[in-house]
This record gives sequence, C-alpha cells and structure tokens, in this order.
Amino acid sequence: MRLSHRIQNITGGGSDGWDLFNRARAMIAQGQKITELTIGEHDIGTHPDILEAMHRAATGGHTGYAAVPGTPELRRIVADRVARRTGVATGPENVLITPGGQSALFAAHHAVLDEADTGLIIDPFYATYPGTIRSLGARPHPVPTVAENGFRPTADALAAAAAETGARSLLINTPNNPTGAVYDRATLQAIAGVCAEQDLWLISDEVYDTQVWAGAHLSPRALPGMAERTLVVGSMSKSHAMTGSRCGWVVGPAEVIERLVDLSTNTTYGVPGYIQDASAFALRQGEEMERQIAAPFRRRRQIVLDALAGQGAVGALPAQGAMYTMLDIRATGMTGESFAEALLDAEAIAVMPGESFGRSAAGHLRIAMTVADEALADAMARLCRFAALQAARR
Ligand code: PMP
Repeated sequence: MRLSHRIQNITGGGSDGWDLFNRARAMIAQGQKITELTIGEHDIGTHPDILEAMHRAATGGHTGYAAVPGTPELRRIVADRVARRTGVATGPENVLITPGGQSALFAAHHAVLDEADTGLIIDPFYATYPGTIRSLGARPHPVPTVAENGFRPTADALAAAAAETGARSLLINTPNNPTGAVYDRATLQAIAGVCAEQDLWLISDEVYDTQVWAGAHLSPRALPGMAERTLVVGSMSKSHAMTGSRCGWVVGPAEVIERLVDLSTNTTYGVPGYIQDASAFALRQGEEMERQIAAPFRRRRQIVLDALAGQGAVGALPAQGAMYTMLDIRATGMTGESFAEALLDAEAIAVMPGESFGRSAAGHLRIAMTVADEALADAMARLCRFAALQAARR
C-alpha cells in the first residue's frame, strides 16, 4: 500500500543523525561499558516531591480527560512565569499546554507554515528541527553560522535567506542545543529586526531557559513589537528533569493559541491531568528547585573547561548555557563523524558528531554533560589524549 509522501519524507531521506548513538546503545546492550555523552537527559530522576504531587493528583482522581488547552491552573502559572521573566502581559489565553516541547515545536510551525512554505532554522540545529518542519509538508532552510562567531546568526545571513526563500518563519533556540550559545541582546535585536522587515514569525525555543552559565537569558517576546509575532516554546523536561512526563507549552498571541487548541483537540487531546498538576506543583516551587536541577551542569561545564586547558588538540566554545559543550576537533584533520566513530571504538566514549546537527558544526563534537563529575573528567582526559594522538599523526 502507498504511504504518503509526507510521512516518508520526515527524515529527508538522509541519516537522522543518531547512527552513532544507536551503535553505542547496541554495544551497551551487548554488555560493553560505554561512557555516553550523547543524549540530553539528566543523570537524576524527577524530584521525589514532584512525583509525590503526581501521585496525589492521580489518586485524587485527576485521571480522566483533562482540559485540552491545559488546566486553568497550569496555564495561569506558566503565564505568570512568562510575564515575570519578560515583562510582557501574559494570561492563560496566551498559553497552550502540550505533550512536551517537541509537540509545541510541531504545533507552533503548524500554526504558521502552509504546505511548501519555507521555515528558516539556524545551523547547527537541534536534530528534530528539519523533520518537524518536513512533517508539515513544509521546507526547512538552514542558515549557516560559524564557530568563530559563536555559532550566532548574523542579520545579513538571515535577511538574505529570508529574501531568497520567501520564508514565513524563523526558529531560534537560546540557550542553544547543540552549541551551548546564549544569544545576547544585540543578536536578538538583529533577529527581531529581520523578522519585522521580512514579515517572519519568530518561533523561540526556550526549553533551556533555566540553564544559563554566562550572560543572561533574554526572550525575544520581551523585545518591542515582538510579542505579536513570536511563539515561545517551553518545557518541563530540562528545567525540572521531567523528560518522560511530556509537558511543555506554546506561548503566543491569543488568536494563535485559540487555533492551536483546534490542533490539540484533533491530535493529542491534551496532556494527562496528573502530569499537569505535578508540573504546576513543580513550577510553584520557584527558582530554587530550578537552580538545584541546573547545578550539576554548571559544575561540569567548568570540569570540561579545566580538562581543555593546557592542551592544543581540542578547542571549545565555552558553554554559556544548556547541558552541552561543542568541542572543536579540526586540529586532528578528522570529521566529527570519523572522530566520534574512532573514539567509540578506541576509548568506549560516545559523543555526537557535529555533522548530526547540520553542516556548520562539521569538525566538531557535541558532548552532553550528563554523566557524574568524575566520569566526565576521566572521559574528557581520554578524549583529549586521543585527539592529540590523531593530531600528531597528520
Ligand atoms: N528543543 C530543544 C533544543 C531540545 O534540546 C529538546 C530536547 N532535547 C526539545 C526542544 C524537546 O524537549 P521536550 O519535548 O522533552 O520538551
């Protein structure tokens, strides 16, 4: 039987970038010990207090269909949080609760792209971005960046790409996966300027907004004139170590959220009530809990920088945010892919090749700082030694 072109084209026909990750997992399944620095998932579980709140909600009866746009309580708490952080008036009518940030990314693009429309993304990009846009029958168009500019987009490159493709939307992500960049005010103002000039919707993925190590997180929703053309994507996954609970949101103009409720009604039918109650509980705990959950990554970012000091084979952009560091291995003359494959075989360390995230990260590796401090320090020392050997062989 024939399948739709759209469903067959989600990965764009190429690799989905997870080959190395899958090979490492297969090795683990065969009993090998591998240090996995691949996936962006905390090495701790969800806080017991949040689980307790989930249990209370479920045993208290919140197990039936929940309100499709999100419970009034959670929509209100998310709205208040966004208003506090951006200074922009935000109410429950501006919030749609979704099953995770990924579903929010899909919904946001669904709201603004028609079939065959172009959505701009910044290269390097989080692995699902192109597939999210393709699954709507639309076209992802990567805008290249360079390591030397901190992988931040320039207004000229964005404007040229928008003009060339007639794009309708631009997706940005700060703090950034995979690069660890946090966009400063000037970068965001430049982005906002291009969006206004080229009449683009801005989709702002802010799922790492509690993980900032240098500079400050600024949501473009806070910039003059941007709230009406910005859809913010948020999530409980990273801020509260709730990846498996699947709870996120889209924040945007009320007219957009109203239409997105139609989408939820006909796709997900909302998020389980006990998950929403647990998320509301977690957000009510305030910033102290968020700081605690982010603390290991702040520590490990420094461990990575310490490991890199005093050697020349591996460079890095010091992570300004998120749970990743991008390592530059161009001094070895290898591609990110060939280095990652060789490192897995020689040292039993799994890292993501930069090429998994687009062309701009070629010759780089993304490490997720998601293993215990000592294991990370050990893996970094071995990775640097391995890189030095490769560089010496050139
Ligand atoms: N955006 C980015 C940049 C991410 O890294 C992730 C998860 N790794 C997501 C969105 C989606 O997260 P979730 O669906 O768990 O909220």
